[in-house]
Amino acid sequence: MALAFDEFGRPFIILREQEQKTRLRGLDAQKANIAAGKAVARILRTSLGPKGMDKMLQSPDGEVTITNDGATILEQMDVDNQIAKLMVELSRSQDYEIGDGTTGVVVMAGALLEQAQKLLERGIHPIRVAEGYELASRIAFEHLERIAHKFEFSGADAEPLIRTCMTTLSSKIVNRCKRSLAEIAVKAVLAVADLERRDVNLDLIKVEGKVGGKLEDTELIYGIVVDKDMSHPQMPKQIEDAHIAILTCPFEPPKPKTKHKVDIDTVEKFQTLRQQEQKYFDDMVQKCKDVGATLVICQWGFDDEANHLLMHRNLPAVRWVGGVEWENCAQISGVDNRKIGQGNKMMIEETKRSIHDALCVARNLIRNNSIVYGGGSAEISCSIAVEAAADKYPGVEQYAIRAFADALDAIPMALAENSGLQPIETLSAVKSQQIKENNNCCGIDCNDVGTNDMREQNVFETLIGKQQQILLATQVVKMILKIDDVISPSEY
Ligand code: ADP
Repeated sequence: MALAFDEFGRPFIILREQEQKTRLRGLDAQKANIAAGKAVARILRTSLGPKGMDKMLQSPDGEVTITNDGATILEQMDVDNQIAKLMVELSRSQDYEIGDGTTGVVVMAGALLEQAQKLLERGIHPIRVAEGYELASRIAFEHLERIAHKFEFSGADAEPLIRTCMTTLSSKIVNRCKRSLAEIAVKAVLAVADLERRDVNLDLIKVEGKVGGKLEDTELIYGIVVDKDMSHPQMPKQIEDAHIAILTCPFEPPKPKTKHKVDIDTVEKFQTLRQQEQKYFDDMVQKCKDVGATLVICQWGFDDEANHLLMHRNLPAVRWVGGVEWENCAQISGVDNRKIGQGNKMMIEETKRSIHDALCVARNLIRNNSIVYGGGSAEISCSIAVEAAADKYPGVEQYAIRAFADALDAIPMALAENSGLQPIETLSAVKSQQIKENNNCCGIDCNDVGTNDMREQNVFETLIGKQQQILLATQVVKMILKIDDVISPSEY
């Protein structure tokens, strides 16, 4: 801070911070931003695909997360660069709208940025690059529709859905139990799906984790899980056709409040007071029983004395049931109290994320059953189509369109590299096979199955998921390219 005087001799203060802004303009700004975006994408690249690596992240308070889910990795990474934050948002949008493909979308954006950098170095204006990318993304988007297939399944024959969810789970840490978890996910989705209207409300499915036990213990419970014990250990653990009273008021004998002065100077008076209290509570219990309740779910607590009385009056109860669980309780009719537990916290969180992905895949297929084949085959096919279309554009855009085609190749290359294959050789072999055999289902045989026809391997992704990846990645890269002035407070 410095003190200065204006022309009339009045003092004013110059704040140092104002002088300390750093500013990047023009090409320097774009280059710096591209570098930041690429850095984030590079981290996720090794996590892509069935042989992708996991990341271990530690939060400031020491909590450890192990995952290969793109959205989660980025969420937990403490980035403070604004462009890196955009990439985090990118992954989050894909997660929000589709629920899958969160790693792929960032890798794609990173590849687009890398190609853009080369074009900028060759002197092509960023706006032209952005325009070319936009054109190319539309070509790819439409091409995906052309190569899409219909995925057939029905409520009665859920096997195809289960196999699809297994594909999603195969790249996760929980792949040991992929069959049972996929079955659980599909059954859960079908239980809440409206197949006529092709609608699924995932809010009706709750994924809960409990510490202790094994992954194999995961089970689907039709109904609502209220993570609470009965208020008294001797109350019944199972109630058929329960009639539930849901109480929003405290459920206990009234207590003399300290504010009121009650003169009790004899034993008799004390006993009368106690009896009155008990009668009051007894009446409450009776009212519940009168309306036919066989179980009381209470939003608030009640003390041991009340608990004891409830036990005596044969009215099982659960206390401190809050929030959504409590709202949902209005809809159930059978009650079953059982002990569930599994894994350690880290494993549980990853399992929950994986199940969420599987749920999203099943939901997306019910909403729209168009699919494209995976293992990078769709990207290779789009790359060929975009490359071919580039020639039709006489202007500078064609460079950007070609660059877009090259960026699409980054996905199969990353899949190959992560599986220990030679990326460039594998890609060119598969690409020429696609052209020669006119088969757009050829992809990267990551698991060394012996065929690279993804139709045979049953590896596919939803059409809307893949289209969304391309659209979102293009939008973010266009946004980054259009920034030519970065003003930020400098570090001191
Ligand atoms: P994301 O978070 O983007 O879904 P994943 O790590 O799940 O990332 O990897 C998805 C990519 O891996 C997709 O391109 C998909 O087609 C590919 N993939 C998944 N399973 C296989 C497989 N068995 N063989 C080849 N590619 C696969």
